[in-house]
Amino acid sequence: MNPELREQASRYVELLRRHGQQDTWLPSGLVRRLPSPSSHTPESSSSRPSPLPTPRVAGAPPAEPTTRPIATPTAPATGTKTERLAALRAQTITCQICPHLAKSRTQVVFGVGDPEARLMFVGEAPGADEDEQGEPFVGLSGKLLSKMLTAMELTREQIYIANVLKCRPDMPAKTSGNRKPTRHEMEACLPYLRAQISIIAPVVIVALGSTAVEGLFGPQKTTISRLRGTWMEIDGVPVRPTFHPSYLLHNQNLALKRQVWEDLLAAMERLGLPISKKQQGYFLPPPA
Ligand code: SF4
Repeated sequence: MNPELREQASRYVELLRRHGQQDTWLPSGLVRRLPSPSSHTPESSSSRPSPLPTPRVAGAPPAEPTTRPIATPTAPATGTKTERLAALRAQTITCQICPHLAKSRTQVVFGVGDPEARLMFVGEAPGADEDEQGEPFVGLSGKLLSKMLTAMELTREQIYIANVLKCRPDMPAKTSGNRKPTRHEMEACLPYLRAQISIIAPVVIVALGSTAVEGLFGPQKTTISRLRGTWMEIDGVPVRPTFHPSYLLHNQNLALKRQVWEDLLAAMERLGLPISKKQQGYFLPPPA
């Protein structure tokens, strides 16, 4: 390595250590943590180390400025969960932070379900059907999600469903289908989801698909196939990543269904829900 680069790298690593930074990339099976929103409050900022400077590499262009606006939810801290969610919804449905999405959306898809839900599902973004109807998971994927809930002996009314992104990602004119939200779009909208999580305070979150995981935790160094089966954590709430229902719709594979079911069983265990012998055996290959 170029000696100058080596020295810069070594200085940066030393700086990270002095600021208490640790490698947050833990092996599968271990909980990964994100800082809670409270750690970002002005009150707590004085006790935290100052932001780390970005190391410059000789000849490299300056880092992209991180001044893109993000949502700043102002839902009241008091009142019932229903009232607080309604206040947050009122703020969200007029949001213009992503002007291109505000222009193209039919409506903001805030989320739906029981404000007292103990189980919350998080998806990536509204598709065409959701944009049209104003509710997450209403298309074919939604039907499959409903079937999963039936297998868990739950209903949609007992849980809460929300997406990382509240507006449908815009598509070029005269094209159909859906696109993956960009990282900046998800970063801009994530504070609304975190506010929803804070109000609902679910016992468990199930993150549906790699984009939902990326929206919640940032870019990952591994695949959803490796992340599923593990627990992550956001704001003190355990998160179980699993495959998106649309992936199952395109892969009618028993082993894949079993993997998703095992993630849902793990969520049921955390919730203290009874699990029958029949439920334990769903999607297992028939005995030889
Ligand atoms: S995606 Fe989220 S942050 Fe962007 S305009 Fe829609 S509600 Fe606002």
